[in-house]
Amino acid sequence: MLEKPCRLVIGGHAKQSGHVAISGGGVTEYAHRVALEQEIGPIPDGKMVMHLCNNPACTEPSHLKCGTHAENMLYMKLCGRSGSKRIPVSVRSVVLKRLQEGNLNHKQIAAEVGVSWGCVRKLNATLKRYAIGNRNQTSLFDCV
Ligand SMILES: [Zn+2]
Repeated sequence: MLEKPCRLVIGGHAKQSGHVAISGGGVTEYAHRVALEQEIGPIPDGKMVMHLCNNPACTEPSHLKCGTHAENMLYMKLCGRSGSKRIPVSVRSVVLKRLQEGNLNHKQIAAEVGVSWGCVRKLNATLKRYAIGNRNQTSLFDCV
């Protein structure tokens, strides 16, 4: 779990995506990007800011992480924020925890949770792709 609550901007312009844009000195920028740069440091070229809390309006620096577009897409998929067949977060949470525990095979997890074997295999594949790209990630399940 993330230790601090989400920090939201008062004012600004809410975008359809949920991100909040703020303006100053003739420049408009996303509030979460400004928060990360002010409190942590510059965003490296080619990286974007990911919301580990899955709240695009959040500007709490400990909830933000720089990552590639691909990492962000994978994280969103793992958290159920994208993908054609969304699995309810409560179900995804149990499946991911069982996969991480490693005590049951995919069919056993599917039977326990009440989802298809294919669903468990798909989440496992997503989990492995995410783990490969984020070897130092310690808060993988903050999203679920
Ligand atoms: Zn947050």
